[in-house]
Amino acid sequence: MRFLPVFLDLQAGPVLLIGAGELARAKLRLLAAAGARIRWYATDGNHDVSGLDSAGAARIELAESDPLAADLTGVIAILCAGAGDIGPVMSARAKAVGIPVNVMDDLAHSTFIFPAIVDRGDVVVAIGTGGASPVVARRLRERIEAVLPARIGDLAGFIGRWRKLIHNRIPEFPLRRRFWERVVDGPIGALVLAGRQDEAEAALKDISDPTAFAGGSASGRAEGSVTLVGAGPGDPDLLTVKALRALQDADVIFYDELVSPEILDRARRDASRVPVGRRVGKPGIGQDAINRLMIDAANSGQRVVRLKGGDPFVFGRGGEEVEVLREAGVTYSVVPGITAGLGAAAQFEVPLTFRHEALRITFLTAHKARDAQTVDWSTLTDEKMTVVVYMGTTAAPSVRAGLLAAGRSPQTPVGVFARVTRTDAQAVVGTLDQLPTLVEQIDGGPAILIIGDVVAHSAPWRHPNLNHVITQLLEAAE
Ligand code: SAH
Repeated sequence: MRFLPVFLDLQAGPVLLIGAGELARAKLRLLAAAGARIRWYATDGNHDVSGLDSAGAARIELAESDPLAADLTGVIAILCAGAGDIGPVMSARAKAVGIPVNVMDDLAHSTFIFPAIVDRGDVVVAIGTGGASPVVARRLRERIEAVLPARIGDLAGFIGRWRKLIHNRIPEFPLRRRFWERVVDGPIGALVLAGRQDEAEAALKDISDPTAFAGGSASGRAEGSVTLVGAGPGDPDLLTVKALRALQDADVIFYDELVSPEILDRARRDASRVPVGRRVGKPGIGQDAINRLMIDAANSGQRVVRLKGGDPFVFGRGGEEVEVLREAGVTYSVVPGITAGLGAAAQFEVPLTFRHEALRITFLTAHKARDAQTVDWSTLTDEKMTVVVYMGTTAAPSVRAGLLAAGRSPQTPVGVFARVTRTDAQAVVGTLDQLPTLVEQIDGGPAILIIGDVVAHSAPWRHPNLNHVITQLLEAAE
């Protein structure tokens, strides 16, 4: 991100527009619609302002002098549109005195750029691509236009008018935030969006106890809660809508080492983020400490998200955490996530079940060789069973030995899938007999094993040389 979107107060001073033709006039319309005071230097001497409403036109000062000699005192921004060679020179002047300047279609001479805009009155959405692609920005704008309720600006305005009053009645910030969430998400918000502001106003006035409406306790405190959220295997687009909402509502997030930074990026900006997982080479803070942190945070009125890789209830100790929360009397809920095995299956096209071929699936963990030795492999010999092994890379030799000793064919197809659904995902396929060497080809990160005939349907099995071919092509290109 090179350009940070900020919103400029156009009441704060005049904007200088330098340029001519349709380009300048388009900027004139934009600025006039936003209520700006504009000082316009028409570089071709044509100060035609037809097409603007009279209020807009009244705020335009037509400047006749040389813009390069213009007095910049109090000017809040400078725009050059259709200004030709004057643009870069003006840019240098603006930069010298620290005034934001935009030279149209000239990133090098601009210190700010114009986003694509969705304008709904009080609600304005700005979309930027760092100047790289206006087409991408426009397409995105179309999509946002399509999903934003038409009266979303009215809703913001409505809340703005009540803000101060509610602020006085609910001094506690977290509770006040929840009050407004219930207004926005509930019937009052729906009334405003339906264009029935008077009824919405009446309904808001009717709330006799705003604290209770916000779900606060008798002591006037926000009630805390814990949501166990499955973050999925890595790709942030695989978060469920519910997970996203929990992340957006969170006050504090306790996350595991498997959670990718892209997923944390989707959380509310001012939520605190606390890593509680094991770090490479470090043991982590331990389950008891995690439990304590969650309970304390919830009891202090915070909305806690416990964010885990994959699904919280698949080898994620979610069961234990829920038990502890229940005993502590903390309100909790669980949001499922896409477990790594399913992420690998989808990405690499491993159908975990297949008509007549694979009728059962077993998910198991083989954390350490010791654990692998305690697995009863004799229950996994059914040829029509797909076996998905979590935490199985270190114990791969024991997994192989156990399954072979139990009588599974050494020719059984297996896949090792690492960092699945991330941009650097990797797949290695072969036979059960080769499993330990397959695992050695993995370049780090979490990996999952899938064992069973269905692996022969997978994309890497069907195109065994694809990686090889790509590598060769890349080398040839160099
Ligand atoms: N709750 C998680 C599993 C946690 S156990 C889930 O449902 O996915 C940790 C193991 O999960 C890792 O050792 C690895 O076997 C697997 N795993 C997690 N994320 C993975 C990923 N992105 N790619 C491959 N395997 C992954």
